[in-house]
Amino acid sequence: MEFRKNDVITLEIEDCGIDGEGIGKADGFTVFVKDAVIGDTVRAKIMKAKKNYGYARLLEVLKPSPYRVEPKCAYARQCGGCQIQELSYEQQLVFKEAKVRGHLERIGGFKEIPMEPVIGMEEPYHYRNKAQFPVGKNKEGRIITGFYAGRTHTIIENRECALGVPENKEVLDRVISYMETYGVEPYDEITGKGLVRHILIRYGFFTGEVMVCIIANGKSLPNCEKLVETLREIPGMTSITLNINRSRSNVILGDELHLLWGSPYITDKIGEISYQISPLSFYQVNPRQTGKLYAKVLEYADLHGAETVWDLYCGIGTISLFLAQQAKFVRGVEIVPAAIEDAQRNAALNQIQNTEFFVGKAEEVLPREYEKNGVYADVIVVDPPRKGCDGVLLDTILKMQPKRVVYVSCDSATLARDLKYLCGNGYELKKVCVVDQFGNTVHVETVALLTKKAR
Ligand code: SAH
Repeated sequence: MEFRKNDVITLEIEDCGIDGEGIGKADGFTVFVKDAVIGDTVRAKIMKAKKNYGYARLLEVLKPSPYRVEPKCAYARQCGGCQIQELSYEQQLVFKEAKVRGHLERIGGFKEIPMEPVIGMEEPYHYRNKAQFPVGKNKEGRIITGFYAGRTHTIIENRECALGVPENKEVLDRVISYMETYGVEPYDEITGKGLVRHILIRYGFFTGEVMVCIIANGKSLPNCEKLVETLREIPGMTSITLNINRSRSNVILGDELHLLWGSPYITDKIGEISYQISPLSFYQVNPRQTGKLYAKVLEYADLHGAETVWDLYCGIGTISLFLAQQAKFVRGVEIVPAAIEDAQRNAALNQIQNTEFFVGKAEEVLPREYEKNGVYADVIVVDPPRKGCDGVLLDTILKMQPKRVVYVSCDSATLARDLKYLCGNGYELKKVCVVDQFGNTVHVETVALLTKKAR
């Protein structure tokens, strides 16, 4: 049956899309309904219709899903940060596991999937160690800070994000009050005028250290010492910096950084390894779950001290340093030069000497080191961005024939595609584990273990 714009339909929501929207079927026609939850029966109005699918607006929940819960945050619907706060946490985990299984079956062509129990969070709130709050003005001209509404740059005022740490509020209150007292204007994206663009806050979960970075459209802040004075009173305050960003673009951080007070970085730990984090460094946002994820990577890598390992797409070397504790030697590759500088510094900080880091594309560095320099690997770990691994890289892995490949993925569709290729060429899928790093959002992190098939 065909549907048209403005048709009103009744359907049951069976799935959840990449933006958290509910997905259901009416007579073979797939419908995406924002704000509907898996398990709801809803009445919805078609807003846009294509041949086989369409987008509809939720009119009424006829029968609420048994998995619906009251969201903790009053702005859960408008805010772009969370997508599935209205789904119970247990059901979020069921959904994430089913999503990975579905991709492995449909895209990967796997039949028997060796899934381990999903590793969820103890507390799916207040887990983020980093937040970037845009600053602006409301219609009445009052300075506000909070989060962008989904897909827009409208600021929703909220200083108490349910995913962030409670310390955020104290910092935001003090920065806004300083701006009001000394007449410091927020930046206006439309006119390009005004000074304060964003407030970046990072918190060390294991050390209690707090970092504040003010991102400004200018070289200095008026009465800066007053801002420092008030922020210093916050327990744990360790680093206060000013980042200069005078561009008219959407990019949050500029390249220039000035230390206003304290240390240029804070320190935090994942497992036994310490990391120094500067405002510009990449660092995992949920260190507790990251510890569990890396422990899984280490378990799958099955190291006994004699192995040579490659950690591809290594970022600041977090996984590399974890593996180095049990391997003979670990080589990391990452495309961003600043991340490799962090990796080298963190290796030194932890007195880890059996690592070497390369700047470059994984699909260029690995073939070069293997073909020209004969560098081998017992275990290869990959942790690519959403688009997955490059074909040249997968072919190099097949040539190198490591005993084990551990694939860490933030997109199970590309994971399934890549695993299909490796498993069609001599590898076997041994274990898969979903580790929830981002409760209340639709993001899914997966670790998979492949071993070389016995001939
Ligand atoms: N393993 C790290 C980070 C993984 S995120 C951790 O656990 O923290 C993926 C990383 O891949 C990013 O740091 C990104 O900069 C890097 N990257 C993207 N494309 C790449 C490529 N072609 N070659 C190497 N690194 C790449």
